[in-house]
Amino acid sequence: MGVKRWIGRWPVYRQLTGEDPLGRGKAAQSPRSAGLAPRTESADRVVDSICPYCAVGCAQRVFVKDEQVIQIEGNPHSPISRGRLCPKGSASKQLVTGPQRVQKVRYRPPYATEWQDLDLDTAMDMVADRVLDARRRGWQDVDEAGKTLRRTMGLASLGGATLDNEENYLIKKLFTALGALQVENQARI
Ligand code: SF4
Repeated sequence: MGVKRWIGRWPVYRQLTGEDPLGRGKAAQSPRSAGLAPRTESADRVVDSICPYCAVGCAQRVFVKDEQVIQIEGNPHSPISRGRLCPKGSASKQLVTGPQRVQKVRYRPPYATEWQDLDLDTAMDMVADRVLDARRRGWQDVDEAGKTLRRTMGLASLGGATLDNEENYLIKKLFTALGALQVENQARI
């Protein structure tokens, strides 16, 4: 290899003599890095979404290939986060694709030491039965003075940070219709 070509492999030489004086582009590239392409380039489509972790609600771009999530990045068009994600949001692809993600309904009966798998319909029926039972057992028709209450103290709702307005509206409607007083959301920072 000639001396000139050998020296030309040094990034600092290319930076000082080429068209990339700040060393942010070609001057800093090796043949290997020049041949790399971001995996986002091979995505079939990009879906706008919101980070599910906290109440900030940073906007995300979800890159999909063959109907699988291949990358999640910040959305620069968001007026809230302007393309930024914190470490949790940056790692949220693992929330979708991680091998430790639980994909089935898991149930541990009272006093049992082992978890069972349940199908979703069975689990939903069990939840509905418990809601109705708790509502009934906590029901207060009147107070000590005989004034009408018609409420239950057996139920409460605590919403998650990424519930949107419409979901919170429906949750409030549902729990108020059930007679619950404590309807809250943890979206406070
Ligand atoms: S990226 Fe971080 S700050 Fe933004 S919503 Fe997600 S967890 Fe919250």
